[in-house]
Amino acid sequence: MSKGITSRKTDYSQWYNELVVKADLAEHSAVRGCMVIKPYGYAIWEKMQAALDKMFKDTGHSNAYFPLFIPKSFFSKEASHVEGFATECAVVTHYRLKNDGSGNIVVDEEAKLEEELIVRPTSETIIWNTYKGWIESYRDLPILVNQWANVVRWEMRTRLFLRTAEFLWQEGHTAHATREEAMEETARMLGVYADFAENWMALPVVRGRKTENERFAGALDTLCIEALMQDGKALQAGTSHFLGQNFAKAFDVKFTAKDGKLDYVWATSWGVSTRLMGALIMAHSDDQGLVLPPKLAPIQVVIVPIYKNEEERQTIGGLADTLIAELKSKGISVKYDDRDTHRPGFKFAEWELKGVPVRIAVGTRDMENGTVEIARRDTQTKETVSQAGLADRIEQLLETIQHTIYEKALGFRDANTVEVETYDEFKRVLDEQGGFVSAHWDGTVETEKLIKEETKATIRCIPLANKEEAGVCIRTGKPSTQRVLFARAY
Ligand code: AMP
Repeated sequence: MSKGITSRKTDYSQWYNELVVKADLAEHSAVRGCMVIKPYGYAIWEKMQAALDKMFKDTGHSNAYFPLFIPKSFFSKEASHVEGFATECAVVTHYRLKNDGSGNIVVDEEAKLEEELIVRPTSETIIWNTYKGWIESYRDLPILVNQWANVVRWEMRTRLFLRTAEFLWQEGHTAHATREEAMEETARMLGVYADFAENWMALPVVRGRKTENERFAGALDTLCIEALMQDGKALQAGTSHFLGQNFAKAFDVKFTAKDGKLDYVWATSWGVSTRLMGALIMAHSDDQGLVLPPKLAPIQVVIVPIYKNEEERQTIGGLADTLIAELKSKGISVKYDDRDTHRPGFKFAEWELKGVPVRIAVGTRDMENGTVEIARRDTQTKETVSQAGLADRIEQLLETIQHTIYEKALGFRDANTVEVETYDEFKRVLDEQGGFVSAHWDGTVETEKLIKEETKATIRCIPLANKEEAGVCIRTGKPSTQRVLFARAY
């Protein structure tokens, strides 16, 4: 394996692309915009799924599954929804191929679908069409369902994990009797996402609200978590939508309330995708490779024996067996890398590239001294420690690493969140430093679009923690009541 990857300073974008491939996470496929997620990358995604799935179930949700295809007529029922997604839909028009007689396989024009099917870009429409049959009265509510699935959005400019034409995600779709309940659910799930980002991914996020312009197509309100990457660009890491009664009206889903009155059902939807993999990689990794927070690392500890002959290998193997059993009993995943085919130096570089949080090296001298060498991936520091009490020490260390990675990312974000008062200052900060720029805005879509055109910065969110503050819009000088967070984004 060749180790060298482009440094972040030289070309951040190239660094990311090379890292994803060289760390064996994913690769481009033969299909434009679609990726192959390789076993090591998929193992990280599975850990994310498992943690999120538990959090969804702990908040009362159950998993279900809906079709991949959505009839075009369903899709068209909610006007702003179809408008938002129309330009990136894959459409199935035929259901059969045939041999044209001269050996060419062609689409059988006679096998044209009466109604085209849309490959789901999101499932509100098919799900609300289904909920119509599930809901009659308030006793049928709430419905708290999540689906793990793939979706397709015909994206023009794609990047592995961050933006692909097909991506994996989960989409929650809930139905409620009251506006308040649906709004509470929207906020609750944003909280779940923020908790997951911070406590599992070690990724600090800003909880916020999208502006009208950036809202999900068909939503009344979109809440989001926004994270900052090491190149100063922002990334939308998750969204939770309050859909009001829009989809219930489009699909005529009514319920009889306790007081006997008929009303439309209230809805939410919320999702995170394999984009989180991109966020994880971009937020923490360095020029040597991946840096993974221990809670999501498929391999948390790697043990590399350093030996010259079979006898030494046997002795070290004995120590390793005991240590591995101890670590496993603590729920720590450990790999013993005693491959004969590679030198220790090569193995060190490989596990560094793959972001294994802790490396333990044991040589003959260590065996004589009753020690091992522990190396931390995040700080790249090494330490020789006693073999006694090693498993406890490692357990502690993994927690410390998880915490340190978070603190580092938080420090970076704080250092790269700047308040500005003028448009000149705004542009200067964006060009020289990037990051989140906190500024006053007059609240209009026109100004938001103008600023985007002139600077490529978008309003990432109106932070939920915002306090009212009188000021003037950096672009128009009109009055403003609060600051919003701008950034150039992925
Ligand atoms: P949305 O349904 O548009 O609110 O998106 C739900 C989640 O999917 C958000 O967290 C987005 O960041 C993510 N997402 C949207 N488009 C893509 C894409 N093309 N590739 C990967 N993730 C995406």
